[in-house]
Amino acid sequence: MEFKPTIGLEVHAELKTKTKMFCDCLNNPEEKIANTNICPICLAHPGTLPVINKKALGQVITVGLALNSEIPEYSKFDRKNYFYPDLPKGYQISQYDMPLCKGGELSLFLSNDLEEAKEKIEITRVHLEEDTGKLIHAANGESTLIDFNRAGVPLMELVTEPVIHSGKEARLFAQGLQLLLRILGVSEANMDRGQMRCEVNISLSKDKKLGTKVEIKNLNSFRVVEKSIDFEIQRQTEVLEKGEKVIQETRGWDAGKEITYSQRLKEEAKDYRYFPEPDLPRLHIHPKEESDGLFNLEEIEKQTPELPWKKKERVMELCSFSENANLLIQDEKLMNFFEEVIKKFNDIDIKNKEKIINLTFNYLASDLKGLMESGSIVWGQLKITPQSFSKLIFLLFNDKISSRAGKDVLAEMVKEGGDPEEIIKSKGLEKISDGSQLDPIVSEIIKNNPKIAEDYKKGKENVLQFLIGQAMAKTRGAADPKSLEKLFKKQLS
Ligand SMILES: [Zn+2]
Repeated sequence: MEFKPTIGLEVHAELKTKTKMFCDCLNNPEEKIANTNICPICLAHPGTLPVINKKALGQVITVGLALNSEIPEYSKFDRKNYFYPDLPKGYQISQYDMPLCKGGELSLFLSNDLEEAKEKIEITRVHLEEDTGKLIHAANGESTLIDFNRAGVPLMELVTEPVIHSGKEARLFAQGLQLLLRILGVSEANMDRGQMRCEVNISLSKDKKLGTKVEIKNLNSFRVVEKSIDFEIQRQTEVLEKGEKVIQETRGWDAGKEITYSQRLKEEAKDYRYFPEPDLPRLHIHPKEESDGLFNLEEIEKQTPELPWKKKERVMELCSFSENANLLIQDEKLMNFFEEVIKKFNDIDIKNKEKIINLTFNYLASDLKGLMESGSIVWGQLKITPQSFSKLIFLLFNDKISSRAGKDVLAEMVKEGGDPEEIIKSKGLEKISDGSQLDPIVSEIIKNNPKIAEDYKKGKENVLQFLIGQAMAKTRGAADPKSLEKLFKKQLS
């Protein structure tokens, strides 16, 4: 019997507020000059008092509602006591037994596999706390400097139940959460900038009793989340198969060697001596009766943008590829452009509609995006409009131009704007299927390639594609390949 891995995730995300969690210092994670956004409150001078940032509370509640969490009527902050040089107070204001959000779930909706995408990962809680400062260790190892710009920045913490079973599932969960946080506008959630941080705990066992738990910390990309878990499953399996015991410890990820390594052995569960923060009031989050409570949950839900998994469902009704839908819901500008374009195809009957929508998607996601990237063009600078783009797609769909000519027209439209029909006329790119126009071209290609023409006559049918390609090049992609095929076959028979 195989060992079954059980994985739980702990995700921290820095919230996007104007000011810090308990003072009015700027919340600016990009600040380059150390110790600029600081004040006596976030430096924990004696006698200072914290004031709660209501915006941050609202953001965590928005996340909780999106995740289907229970939002308890009352909440409070607690002190988590521990000493570390980047923590000026000697304790962190966090939440212990009355978090803002309890329970909830997030599906693996970004999976390309539609069955896996339905799988739901249960969430234990989502709460609010403050971030710590940053330690900067000198390269010579002789000194450490502290930057308190980040101290007191609002930090959301989400904990999942131990219900994840692979590195891929953990990655999909984290990717889905990142997209949600971005769509809700509560965090930039860039993992490489530390705006979103993942910790993993993982154990292996053969029965229902959980095995010894190992933590992996400081995972700074989705790839590393997946790889480190898969590595750890492999490592622990080997330890257990040898009849040895897994040691309870915290491990880090060595990016160079792509392995986890032991950082420290776990002492007994840390006693943080949590107690209610005496300087902050207990919070009445939402009312049982009107006009009593900090937030109106119905109002928050009304103002919440379309959730990404709902958007995906909507896109999937239009185009049947999960990969395409994932690309669209992860790129807001592309999605908006796509939706504007396909609005123009409302009159087309359903079976054909799917074809034209997939055509639209392909020209948008590969051709248009490719041209934008190579020309360093951003959406705001784009000369092509959804209106003219839909016209071009319609011409391609109705076989008025070849796909090769379509790409030329698109390049022109991206650079100069303009109407696709006029560009086609001025460049002579209309599809030529007229035999009297194509016949002389076919004769010329046969004359210029006598050996290949001979091969075809001897039965090598696959050389026909080469001849058609030559004729296509000759007409700069304007010739209709089906007409060419017929004419070549006729002349070579
Ligand atoms: Zn401050």
